[in-house]
Amino acid sequence: MNVLSPSLAASSGMADVIGEDGKIVVPADVEEAIRTLIRWSGDQPEREGLLDTPKRVARAWREYCSGYAQDPGLHLSRTFEEVGGYDEVVLLRDIPFQSHCEHHMAPITGTASIAYLPRDRVVGISKLARVLHGFAQRLQVQERLTAEVAQCIWDNLKPHGVAVVIEAQHGCMTGRGVRTHGVGMVTSRMLGCFLDDASSRKEVLALMGRG
Ligand SMILES: [Zn+2]
Repeated sequence: MNVLSPSLAASSGMADVIGEDGKIVVPADVEEAIRTLIRWSGDQPEREGLLDTPKRVARAWREYCSGYAQDPGLHLSRTFEEVGGYDEVVLLRDIPFQSHCEHHMAPITGTASIAYLPRDRVVGISKLARVLHGFAQRLQVQERLTAEVAQCIWDNLKPHGVAVVIEAQHGCMTGRGVRTHGVGMVTSRMLGCFLDDASSRKEVLALMGRG
């Protein structure tokens, strides 16, 4: 069996074909898979209200998982070296995001706070959110999402430190199983000075409102 990395699979075998209506053409086997799931759920895919659902679901999933078609690190390729002597933490706080858990394909909704201490280069602030969405729009576990965002910034900007804290609710917990409504899961990843130096870590967590 050939093992393709997710991004390769998306860009090679599953390139989107756009129909005359301007929408992505949904392959027949994808539609059929969703009809099978509807049947398995206890409903009838033939009834009127569900007729177009497989196409809609398929296109929605293409969007939920659009991160496979991109390299989030590219958002960090354009940097600015002229920072006017600024050598303090850059923080983007409480960025809303949505992802899907790889265990149930259920929604993960939450917010992320992303900080870095620049060495001599900064990026446009919106780029941090783009990196987050690039990794979030894949099937994920929260721990890996947190680590991937931090590592991407670390590798591309080579800053003194990176701190990422994500708080999220998991649809697979709130909507099924133990049904723990309102329970947020918090994960964090610290690299560089925020990992090594307790006072830097304390400072960045305080800035994130988690001090
Ligand atoms: Zn799950």
